Amino acid sequence: MTAPLVAGNWKMNTTVQEGIALATAIRDAVGKPGGVEVAILPPFTHLWPVHDVLEGSGILLGAQDVFWETSGAYTGEISPTMLAGWCDLALVGHSERRHLLGETDAQVGRKFLCAVSSGLRVIVAVGETESERDSGTTFAVVDRQLDAALAPFESPPAAESFVIAYEPVWAIGTGRTASPEQAQEVCRHIKEHLAAGFAITGVRVLYGGSVTADNAAVLFAEADIDGALVGGASLNSDKFAAIVGAAATSSPPAR
Ligand code: PEP
Repeated sequence: MTAPLVAGNWKMNTTVQEGIALATAIRDAVGKPGGVEVAILPPFTHLWPVHDVLEGSGILLGAQDVFWETSGAYTGEISPTMLAGWCDLALVGHSERRHLLGETDAQVGRKFLCAVSSGLRVIVAVGETESERDSGTTFAVVDRQLDAALAPFESPPAAESFVIAYEPVWAIGTGRTASPEQAQEVCRHIKEHLAAGFAITGVRVLYGGSVTADNAAVLFAEADIDGALVGGASLNSDKFAAIVGAAATSSPPAR
């Protein structure tokens, strides 16, 4: 029985002051998240003050990205060791970084390895574009991204040290959610691929892409959807808390 994870990715939104207010409102709206792991991923500038807001709340703190080295001449980058010990999670491989900034599958793998080795838990985001889905290559794309993410590891990372977020690019920020059946099919495939290719079992797989308070429950009712990575709706404390509430009540009995 694994608790679902609901993680809010604020992306490049809010000033520091607004972020402190939003984190406070989320903390108060979510309360003690019973049976659900909750995380918020503010911009880097907000991490330290938001850490103070979340202290003792049980809500996890995550970074939206991280670099693949622990220190050195990498202007503007943030290393996992700068975050380890007070920050819980790091997200790597978000499609906005892959597609807007040209981040490669191999770079995502290096970030994943460095973050896990530094003691952070990692959310690895994967997902196909609309044209890749239309051409029937969704599974192949996701497999390629997973294989590259795990390639730098000498031995497979522990299942508790990471989470996969399946985020179809065509559903992110578009209001076009994948149907529960579409999301379930790929989330199950990801678990099967990790088991067959790497002997990794028990990894949680989240769905991300226009998750709202209205559609969360039907997604969480699917057997292999173990939570959500939430963008837009995580900027509203009540909507985000409602998604957390749906995860607490809509999980399938077998989970
Ligand atoms: C995301 O950025 O990971 C995301 C899923 O965004 P949205 O919920 O806004 O589609």
